[in-house]
Amino acid sequence: MKAATHAAFAGVVGVTAAGFGAHPGTVGAGALLLGALLPDVDTAHSGLGRWVRPVSTRLERKFGHRTLTHSLLGTLVVACVFSWLLLLNPAALVWLLIGYLSHLLLDTANVSGVPLLWPWRLQFWLVGNRAWRVPYGSPQEFVWFGVFCAVGAALTPLSIDGASTRGFTGSSRRLTGRCRTICGGPTRMRSLRWSTGRTCLRGRA
Ligand SMILES: [Zn+2]
Repeated sequence: MKAATHAAFAGVVGVTAAGFGAHPGTVGAGALLLGALLPDVDTAHSGLGRWVRPVSTRLERKFGHRTLTHSLLGTLVVACVFSWLLLLNPAALVWLLIGYLSHLLLDTANVSGVPLLWPWRLQFWLVGNRAWRVPYGSPQEFVWFGVFCAVGAALTPLSIDGASTRGFTGSSRRLTGRCRTICGGPTRMRSLRWSTGRTCLRGRA
């Protein structure tokens, strides 16, 4: 997958996590994005690989693309390399690894799969049917990118719930309350009491 697709998927992961109360914040979001791009550092043709060319070229020459950096062993190596974050910002390390794993997960949808147990060369795929696998840079990948952008954009207002931080739970309660207010009719008060309890009663008083 291209860097943009991985970044969009990481965005969905971050927004979803925020919706459930785990807000990455600015540093966490940066770490999440870096982690999502990091596995492709093993090729000089990737978005990140172009920026760190001496490193990416050496990695590609020594191991090849989608080998060490696309495995659980590679995840462990990255955790060790960035372990200094534990002293400065432990949450950033967690977000970095979440982004890293999101990359591996998304690449399992790719035609070539992911060697999660490298150096054991056993490829893993998200779907068994070859026809559903996504070739790199294909129109299918472009569709996936669009879907991730749309889902991320749709979830963002729900995850942050306006100015508050109540996330998906608060958003769903508010939406349910609004819907009942619009559709409630004569029995509206009773249904509101049953559905939202004390908060609603206080609101009506
Ligand atoms: Zn990759």
